[in-house]
Amino acid sequence: MMEKQYTDVLIIGAGPAGLAAATNLFESGFKITILDEFPHPGGRLLGQFHEESDGSWWIGRQVASELVEMTKQPNISLQCGVSVYGLKQISEGWEVLSSVGTIETKYLLLATGAAEIPVPLEGWTLPGVMSIGAAQVLTNVHMVKPGDRGIIVGVNVLGLAISRELAVAGVDLAGIVLSPNNLFSGENANPVEAINLLMSLSHLAPSAWMRLGGSLAQKMKMGKWVSTFFPRQGMNVWDIPLLLKTTISSIQGKKSVESVVLADVNSSGQIIAGSEREEKVDFVALAGGLYPLAELAAVAGCSFLYLPELGGNIPLHNEQMKTPLSNLYVAGNITGVEGAQVAMAQGKLAARSIGNDAGLLKNGREKIAEAMDEVHQVRKTATIQFHPGIIAARKRVYEMYDSLQKESLTS
Ligand SMILES: Cc1cc2nc3c(=O)[nH]c(=O)nc-3n(C[C@H](O)[C@H](O)[C@H](O)COP(=O)(O)OP(=O)(O)OC[C@H]3O[C@@H](n4cnc5c(N)ncnc54)[C@H](O)[C@@H]3O)c2cc1C
Repeated sequence: MMEKQYTDVLIIGAGPAGLAAATNLFESGFKITILDEFPHPGGRLLGQFHEESDGSWWIGRQVASELVEMTKQPNISLQCGVSVYGLKQISEGWEVLSSVGTIETKYLLLATGAAEIPVPLEGWTLPGVMSIGAAQVLTNVHMVKPGDRGIIVGVNVLGLAISRELAVAGVDLAGIVLSPNNLFSGENANPVEAINLLMSLSHLAPSAWMRLGGSLAQKMKMGKWVSTFFPRQGMNVWDIPLLLKTTISSIQGKKSVESVVLADVNSSGQIIAGSEREEKVDFVALAGGLYPLAELAAVAGCSFLYLPELGGNIPLHNEQMKTPLSNLYVAGNITGVEGAQVAMAQGKLAARSIGNDAGLLKNGREKIAEAMDEVHQVRKTATIQFHPGIIAARKRVYEMYDSLQKESLTS
């Protein structure tokens, strides 16, 4: 039987949120343990890069190795290849069940990130069909091309961001098309909704021309109008055809992907009969979007809120990253889907909250206020935003937390 381990702070997830939390906590002198089920630390940083508005490149892998370097401290133990599958509240903190046995901790931080929403369609079990995240990992982490020529299914921020990464890596893309119109796709199959989403994020667009066009169209509420005049043959974005009036109806192939059947759609996303045609590709990347990976918070007994602007169900927490459960904190995409810079700022804030609750942070109130301010600033200037309405949705979460806390004090 494996012996029980003891630590002061246990962080689940060695992505930007978890690593930033650890690097901001080590001076407390706490014994800190970070667990991650992936063989390498860095989380989703390992596969991502993007161009900032000043033309410089933000390379996630570089940021990850800097953070990992900073965790090399005598009081930090970073353990990869370890899965956590259970949590139990005990009188002095939390008991954590993992693939290397049970670990007891006083403070627990969940920084488990996000997961991809699947896009089921005919032929999606053929070899050569993968999630867009898998295409990203193959290309940017393992340096293996997912195929010779592919197509991206799903018009959303993740799909666009990773399409660009694939194009930069020299992967040939036939285009980005709408999700298939079926039981699972909902608004993702609708061209007007796709245009509305792109317009609401137009301030992040890669060119001044697109930014101006998007914000004018948004002000004039022209989503439907734009979709009427959007060219059926698509528009090139970073040399990738963005086909907002084209959907996929099936994936074809005997042993692996050989082609896809594409079709034109009307403004409500219905296939226009007779427009079906075959496109030769050898891989298909499905981009259904992201949702917060929050199962461990549910196991712990957290209350949840459903907020589509944050990616779905999120554990209730306050602005200082505390949940209503004693000594349980959250940071990063588990609290809502945003980019890695926001996750890092949230990790720092969670670290300060833990330090303050433990009575180890000098000028705790000011330091927490400063870290909260940093989260706001980073969020406001983030190059990648996954959903519109994030700031208002976050405010609703904190108000809900405060009102539930007040209720429990008066009852
Ligand atoms: C497939 C995918 C691709 C993405 N690509 C981009 C992109 O290109 N650009 C962008 O800006 N954002 C991207 N994101 C968003 C990304 O989640 C954030 O940018 C950022 O990485 C979030 O940081 P985090 O620390 O919250 O989570 P993550 O970086 O996801 O790290 C969480 C870590 O927790 C670990 N973990 C989860 N559950 C357990 C468990 N039970 N036991 C042990 N370990 C566990 C995971 O292995 C992971 O390493 C992507 C997200 C996903 C899911």
